[in-house]
Amino acid sequence: MIRKLSQVEYSLGELETGYRRQYLKQDMKQTVLFSSTWLVVNLLFIFTDFLLFGANPVWQNALWLRLSLSGFTLAAFWILTRITRPTVFDWLGFSLLCVTYIHVFMLNHLQPVSQYAGLDYLIILGIYLLVPVRVLLRLIPSVLFSLCNIVAYTTYSLSQSPPVPFAQLFIMTVSYLLSNGLGLWAASQFYSHRRQQFEAQTRSLELRKDLIQNALFDQLTGVANRRHFFQVAEEEFGRFIRYNRPFSLLMMDLDHFKDVNDKYGHPVGDKVLKELAETVLRNKRDSDLFGRLGGEEFALLLPETNLAGATEIAVRLRRACHTLGVPGHMAIRVTVSIGVTQVRSEDASFDDVLSRVDETLYRAKNNGRDRVEVA
Ligand code: GH3
Ligand code: MG
Ligand code: MG
Repeated sequence: MIRKLSQVEYSLGELETGYRRQYLKQDMKQTVLFSSTWLVVNLLFIFTDFLLFGANPVWQNALWLRLSLSGFTLAAFWILTRITRPTVFDWLGFSLLCVTYIHVFMLNHLQPVSQYAGLDYLIILGIYLLVPVRVLLRLIPSVLFSLCNIVAYTTYSLSQSPPVPFAQLFIMTVSYLLSNGLGLWAASQFYSHRRQQFEAQTRSLELRKDLIQNALFDQLTGVANRRHFFQVAEEEFGRFIRYNRPFSLLMMDLDHFKDVNDKYGHPVGDKVLKELAETVLRNKRDSDLFGRLGGEEFALLLPETNLAGATEIAVRLRRACHTLGVPGHMAIRVTVSIGVTQVRSEDASFDDVLSRVDETLYRAKNNGRDRVEVA
């Protein structure tokens, strides 16, 4: 039963934490708004109490109760502004609700005539709708408050002679039940809608991310795919033409990779490609772009880097590949051949830079592999 009630709001599963975090600030503001309204009403009632009771001990007790509730509410506001975790918000909100209900109950029963039952229903509805702590933490204190009031009013009524008419007690009981039922229903409708919206938003963001990931990055290694690499490289070439900003290009190819596939199988070959990509990603700068041009051929675009700097990086990468290890197949040793070039004033397009680096890589292969050649 309790479990069922806690699921009256649309369940978000693994998105729950993200949802609560996203709406935490808004939920806190809403709670402060509701409690502030109640705080003002509570303070105004000090004067109503005075008109009702005069300056007698009942009024004094009511005054202390109202002042202590205001003090607690203000303290809760102070803590609320410092909260960053939804669970802390839940328990602080729950404490605020409990203290509010206890105060209201005590005020209700300070003296039989001070029964603001009409206001009780509004408080219950307001709490369900405007204090978005976990739904069970709204439900439990609201139901307990209602039950305590029903029992207290009934006990008081039965002790009277003549007793308070049964119809009056019945209407009061139904009103408490209705305000709880209606509050729970309205809250579940409103917050379920907000939850579904969050889910749709999150799913569409994930889909967009997936689409971008698939459009721009290689599925196996996660580095830039050929299309994305060339797009960025063309832009870099544009910057070189317009502002004369230098850049360099590295092209690398695994040596005798066919043998690795033949000896260990294609899936292990795939692992080697992944490890190679990770090794380069670990050794490159954030501003450099690493891409897979196809098969076991990769390229690294180095903005703002001259030939000497690019050669240094190429030598480092070649060495790093010597220590590259494939989990489960530590015996595999791979080497890479690398061609390096820098953009030149006579280059008419990025294709010219690419052909030059391609020829340089070819030279590295012909000169014995596992080496860096520069042009
Ligand atoms: P070289 O030193 O001359 O570059 O020799 P190589 O064996 O590396 O070159 P070759 O071009 O003859 O072979 C490239 C191999 O790369 C052949 C192909 O099966 C393999 N290959 C290409 N793409 C993939 C891939 O995605 N996964 C795996 N496992 N192998 C791939
Ligand atoms: Mg190769
Ligand atoms: Mg190749």
